[in-house]
Amino acid sequence: MTTSRRFVMDTMLGKLARWLRAMGYDTLYFRVAQDRSLLQLARAEARTLLTRDARLARLAGAGGLLIRATEIEPQIVEVVEQLALAPSGEGLLSRCLECNALLEDRLKESVRGLVPEYVFVTHHRFVGCPGCSRIYWQGSHADRILARLERALGSRAPKGGADFPRPF
Ligand SMILES: [Zn+2]
Repeated sequence: MTTSRRFVMDTMLGKLARWLRAMGYDTLYFRVAQDRSLLQLARAEARTLLTRDARLARLAGAGGLLIRATEIEPQIVEVVEQLALAPSGEGLLSRCLECNALLEDRLKESVRGLVPEYVFVTHHRFVGCPGCSRIYWQGSHADRILARLERALGSRAPKGGADFPRPF
């Protein structure tokens, strides 16, 4: 088993899961999960198991990565460096931070009543999550995510593509 660009996280890495999703990586995370289930899932779906637990990392062998940093920004750097990831603008903000599903465009009319009134009036592009029904729109949230990735990763941070910024 070798590392892949798809991930499953241990229960201690919920924050890092959201950041990997923000960069577009297919990342599974469960608040409650047994080590054995995580190992099985990693093997069955060829996902790299990221963990803070040295014992679990040993069990995962070449398909696991032990995260040593405790703070989120160094953790992001650790994953990107250790796995030689090259996050791209294409995947950026393409997944739901909450549940990992790929976001889909939503017609403005369809989100009336589902987002705050001032957001509905002042925004024109929306995306929705087919997994948990969450609606996202373009805003300062996306800018903050990008700024933080740039701060953590410097020149390796993903750059926005032609279609950027995505509604979020
Ligand atoms: Zn979702």
